Amino acid sequence: MNTRFSEEDEAFRKEFSQWLADNLSGEFAVVKGRGGPGDEHALFEERHAWEKKMGADGWIGIAFPKEVGGRDLSLNQQVIFYEEYARARGPGRVGHIGEGLLGPTVIHFGSEEQKKRFIPGILSGETIWCQGYSEPDAGSDLANVKTRAELVGGEWVLNGQKVWTSGAAWSDWCFVVCRTDPDAKPKHKGISYILVPMRQEGVEVRPIEQMTGDSEFSEVFFNDARTAEENIVGNVNGGWKVSMGTLDFERGASTLGQQMLFHNELDEIIRIAKENGKSEDPVMRQRIADAWIGLRLQRYNALRSLSAAEGAAPGREAMITKIFWATWHRSLGKLAMDVLGARGEIADGAPYELSGLQRMYLFARSDTIYAGSNEIQRNIISERALGLPREPRPS
Ligand SMILES: Cc1cc2nc3c(=O)[nH]c(=O)nc-3n(C[C@H](O)[C@H](O)[C@H](O)COP(=O)(O)OP(=O)(O)OC[C@H]3O[C@@H](n4cnc5c(N)ncnc54)[C@H](O)[C@@H]3O)c2cc1C
Repeated sequence: MNTRFSEEDEAFRKEFSQWLADNLSGEFAVVKGRGGPGDEHALFEERHAWEKKMGADGWIGIAFPKEVGGRDLSLNQQVIFYEEYARARGPGRVGHIGEGLLGPTVIHFGSEEQKKRFIPGILSGETIWCQGYSEPDAGSDLANVKTRAELVGGEWVLNGQKVWTSGAAWSDWCFVVCRTDPDAKPKHKGISYILVPMRQEGVEVRPIEQMTGDSEFSEVFFNDARTAEENIVGNVNGGWKVSMGTLDFERGASTLGQQMLFHNELDEIIRIAKENGKSEDPVMRQRIADAWIGLRLQRYNALRSLSAAEGAAPGREAMITKIFWATWHRSLGKLAMDVLGARGEIADGAPYELSGLQRMYLFARSDTIYAGSNEIQRNIISERALGLPREPRPS
């Protein structure tokens, strides 16, 4: 891609940064810089109001095609969007799972009716989605899901349990990977991808407290939960392809936004190092420089793989993305604590009010687990990118 921005791109930058300056103030000043990793509980209602404001002014789904109400913006303009959002310290987006995962999945695999039904709620910032993949016995081995969905009188009836479901406590809908054929062999051939409303009697959400003190994820129990027959994406028993497609979108342009947040974190670490003298320590200087180089590498690889994909799901180049950023970010957490020194171990507020960098350090421990652990990423790279023989799997 051409990383020089055109006049049109720069005009777009001006328009969006001005919009942020005009709107991320007054009643929304309070959400600035809040709701990032480990801080998801913060100011949910206010951040949801912010999400709706972004939607009302056309700043959600900027990469979605125009036919579904998006703006179909170029990759350069998406880069600018994320840069400016992070520069303005825009809050963690409560709608990011809908915009980043479910929206592209419905656009790519869904029916015309499903696009009409589900995309507007994402674009307006109204509807919050969560991802119902993992179960107690199905994490890395997702094909082992046991949550059962059966068609009864024109509705899917779901029974089973999901776990580690991010944002479940405040979500309106969940995209659930479930079993529609218990006898299928291999197991992944009996799986469907079903959209289920969360606010109903048959759905129970039990938040799990994390070591950040936050409850960003929950257990979700389906006890005769219901959804309409047409709320299945793809074919009955054809959900594996759809669920893998969603994971591909996770490696898409939204990773650029994440990198901008990392940028803010690294800037903060550098600021503290200069302030407390750690920047004079030659080892610390090397580690900070290494972190900066790692961030540049992430950016160039993301731009390279996204421009090669030309709007489609990213290809082989993108398969290193997850393991690289996750491992890098976990080390950044450690660097932050080492730069903070003894201060890293002290909570300023009682009883468990952690600073941004402390929360980042704790939450970053999970980066190498969710969205596919590092070990699973190595399997993906070896099998799908390098064509090595598949590792033996239980049937
Ligand atoms: C913060 C956070 C948020 C999450 N949000 C969501 C969410 O919104 N929705 C959702 O569905 N899930 C979510 N998850 C769950 C996440 O996807 C799983 O934790 C992850 O897939 C790993 O599954 P598991 O926890 O069952 O571990 P397991 O799969 O049991 O793995 C345990 C260990 O064994 C290793 N391992 C497993 N299989 C292999 C193999 N074949 N080869 C080598 N090593 C292997 C793993 O790498 C890991 O180290 C979240 C998790 C976290 C931490």
